[in-house]
Amino acid sequence: MFQESAALKRVRPSATLAMTQKTRELKRQGRDVLGLSAGEPDFDTPENIKEAAIRAIREGKTKYTDVDGVPELKQAIADKYERENGLHYKPGQVNVSPGGKAVIFNALMATCSPGDEVITPAPFWTSYPEMVLLAGGEPVRAPTTQENGYRLTPEALEAAITARTRWLILNSPNNPSGAVYTPEDLRALADVLARHPRVWVLTDDMYEHIIYDGMTFTSFVQAAPEMYDRTLTMNGVSKAYAMTGWRIGYAAGPEPLIAAMRKVEGQSTSNPSSIAQYAALEALTGPQDFIPERARVFEGRRDLVLSMLNQASGLSCAKPEGAFYVYPSLAPLIGKKTPAGRVIEDDETFVTELLESEDVAAVHGSAFGLGPNFRISYATSEDVLEEACRRIQRFCASLV
Ligand code: GLU
Repeated sequence: MFQESAALKRVRPSATLAMTQKTRELKRQGRDVLGLSAGEPDFDTPENIKEAAIRAIREGKTKYTDVDGVPELKQAIADKYERENGLHYKPGQVNVSPGGKAVIFNALMATCSPGDEVITPAPFWTSYPEMVLLAGGEPVRAPTTQENGYRLTPEALEAAITARTRWLILNSPNNPSGAVYTPEDLRALADVLARHPRVWVLTDDMYEHIIYDGMTFTSFVQAAPEMYDRTLTMNGVSKAYAMTGWRIGYAAGPEPLIAAMRKVEGQSTSNPSSIAQYAALEALTGPQDFIPERARVFEGRRDLVLSMLNQASGLSCAKPEGAFYVYPSLAPLIGKKTPAGRVIEDDETFVTELLESEDVAAVHGSAFGLGPNFRISYATSEDVLEEACRRIQRFCASLV
């Protein structure tokens, strides 16, 4: 009889991917589902990047590469950190993996021993704690509140740290809340970490360029240079360059950590796709002007969705400062019934019933560690968003 491994038994499937897969299946069956579960830009990968990939194929760059990335891409990543973040890394301090997810997974596999704890401020991207479990560690949830903008406070961080803490995972702009940490926020967290030299920081900067209201992005080490030797600064081309399917994530950090991650990668995936690496090289070294233009488009969509959802009865949304998600709280709707008599017991039932009655696919907040909430991605057209928000309003109004 088939048996999952002990490690896998502890892990839940990815809720974001499960809902997106369900949306695809319902659409194939002919249902008019509006999919707001996938966290990926609807924009196309720019032409110059596609051409670079085609060129790489034609030039025969189709073989294995160095395990954690070709030298020219690592150099381009080091240059990117210098140019955009003022951070100095040598190419030997850079890891390239098949997607941001793989970067994080390689880092956790390389460092977590049984019982090691990894702090994830909640709400968190659904995969962090599950990857910690798969790596043999123990996820520790550090709660935030809507009132403090879903940002981790120094007090909550201090309370979550134990003698077993190995990592703090920071994610700004945040998936799913859209919270952005200011330099002062990061400085205050670094002051706590100064008292705990065993704790390293994994900072997931994937949404760096999707930031609103004139805010500027600050990476953790920029605000806390003394943390350079125990921080892994992770990023990728998926969101900024609309390259989710190409699977290229990267990170920079202390050489011993990068070497350990290389060891994991060498025994698992080997190198990320050679073709995708050359596409990422073009992304990082080619024109960048479309990035802020796209961020402004996302900002307009955020305003639309925020105002429509805040008008829905029982929902309240904090204003996202970045990324392309809103994360409404639906607390007043818990315990209400649908017209068909089904009780909204939690945010998962809300999302299931919303899909059932209005064909809108969202992701339940319990998958992100803080609820009752749900997440929608507004990385889709305004027409779809308006229609989806109208349906959500109608669904909320139908609950009694
Ligand atoms: N980061 C995206 C999301 O949260 C991609 C899907 C995933 O891997 O979770 O939806």
